[in-house]
Amino acid sequence: MDNKEYARILKEISILRQIRGDNHFKIRAYENGARAIENLADPLESLMDEGDITQIEGIGKSLAKELESLRETGVSSVHQELLVELDPGLLDLMKIQGLGPKRIKTLYDELGISNVDLLKEAAESGKIADVEGLGKKTQEKILAEIERLAQSSGRMPLPAARAIAYGVRDKLKEVKGVEAIDVAGSIRRGRETIGDIDILVATSGEPQPIFEAFVTLPEVEEVLVRGDTKTSARLRNGMQVDVRIVRPEQFGAALHYFTGSKEHHVKLRTRAKKMGLKINEYGVFPRDSDTPVASKTEEDLYACLDLQFIPPELREGRDEIDLAEESKVPKLVEASDMLGDLHMHTTETDGRNTILEMVEAAKARNYRYIAITDHSQAVTVAGGMTPNRFEAQIAQIREINQELEDFRIYSGIEVDILKDGSLDMDHDLLRETDWVVASVHSHFNLPKEEMTARVIRAVESGLVHCLGHATGRILGGRDGYDLDIGQVMDACAVHGVAMEINGSTGRLDLNADLARMAHDRGVKIVLTSDAHSTRGLEDLDYALQQARRAGLTKADIMNTAPELSLG
Ligand SMILES: [Zn+2]
Ligand SMILES: [Zn+2]
Repeated sequence: MDNKEYARILKEISILRQIRGDNHFKIRAYENGARAIENLADPLESLMDEGDITQIEGIGKSLAKELESLRETGVSSVHQELLVELDPGLLDLMKIQGLGPKRIKTLYDELGISNVDLLKEAAESGKIADVEGLGKKTQEKILAEIERLAQSSGRMPLPAARAIAYGVRDKLKEVKGVEAIDVAGSIRRGRETIGDIDILVATSGEPQPIFEAFVTLPEVEEVLVRGDTKTSARLRNGMQVDVRIVRPEQFGAALHYFTGSKEHHVKLRTRAKKMGLKINEYGVFPRDSDTPVASKTEEDLYACLDLQFIPPELREGRDEIDLAEESKVPKLVEASDMLGDLHMHTTETDGRNTILEMVEAAKARNYRYIAITDHSQAVTVAGGMTPNRFEAQIAQIREINQELEDFRIYSGIEVDILKDGSLDMDHDLLRETDWVVASVHSHFNLPKEEMTARVIRAVESGLVHCLGHATGRILGGRDGYDLDIGQVMDACAVHGVAMEINGSTGRLDLNADLARMAHDRGVKIVLTSDAHSTRGLEDLDYALQQARRAGLTKADIMNTAPELSLG
């Protein structure tokens, strides 16, 4: 099991215990344990192997014991008991924004509400409004939330799904007989939300031992279908994973087929037909033959349709086939093009690592520079910087730079755009620092015109280099704020302010469509991780995939340049 899974189970125990009304010291112990595990840099299991995990702050003796047995058996008896005694549906109620354990306990105690359906019923019949401490307004909010959840049902934000899929892939890669393995489906194309996970394996040996290895993974909860070429299972987190096994010589055709999209395939099939060919999951064939003309690689497949190779991110059935026909598919930006990251936080505010630790992690990613962009003081929950602290950090970074060879830290800030559009920092310091990202972190509910004017005022200030997470949406969480994004983009283009594709797991903001739109309007694009830890730097990969979906090339992205050039 990975750390996330351990933390999730502890968290669920703490929530269920709160609903049951247990002793709050016990509840706290699970909460602290979950947080401690979430914050670990290393896998909990390797720490268990190395020795005593009670050394970790937040993990006491009895919790350590429970974790050990959880590891051994794959289940926690405390967790299981709670789920039997209460109701697993109570945990789903936590997905309703505005409901925490306390309110859920009230609803459970007063109205016997133990799942989302019952909650909906009670809200619709007006019963929630009568509960003390909740009221009519809460009832309306709950109904709106249920509606929103239903619409996004079953889909998971790309970053979370991709991390799970890569985890399964990496484990199966080690299984004997696996000659090639890849994640296909919408994850490979980089869609923002994911319905289920498709994994494709090539073997010239027996498929069953590989399927067996898959269904016995600790994250698998239930096997849905077990066949000769395909096995489906549901993971503990609810995600469905389909594993298909093919012969190595069919791998490219199958990978292509299961990567989609449907729309792309429809257009390709039409083209194949016109050329006297047919195309399916086994390859490209002459119309009346069972001997494929291409099947081993995706490159072969496009080549025999007289097409330039089309990267997965562009296979959406738009204009990609026309472009490929004329050899005009853009050379999309790649991971190796990225030479720096321009949005991250450190221990100075809400990050978990120091500047130097971020530098080391950035070097490991072959970057030549980073910008440190801690919060300004308006973000009190993050411990935002006062002007004095910011000034000291600028000086500190200058000093560190003197010691560094072949690497540069840019001093920067993620300055808050205040309600009226002014910037939450002394202007002289903003002029002095190397890189200014400006973002909205408060007053999300302004009317559209006011919000647009607010952001544009910051863009026009002459002090900002980049607009941070411009729409403010949280994937699977909240919609972006009401904003005339086109007008904001035009202002950015005029004032030479870049816009970021913020890859942090919940955001992907701008998304691919908006990034394309910004680029087309002449806005410079920056890819960032918005990392809050050394590990968080990996989130730039999600921004990269969105940039590729937007059809952007190396030249379109600012931080592919060997150094920051402003102006
Ligand atoms: Zn931010
Ligand atoms: Zn940030």
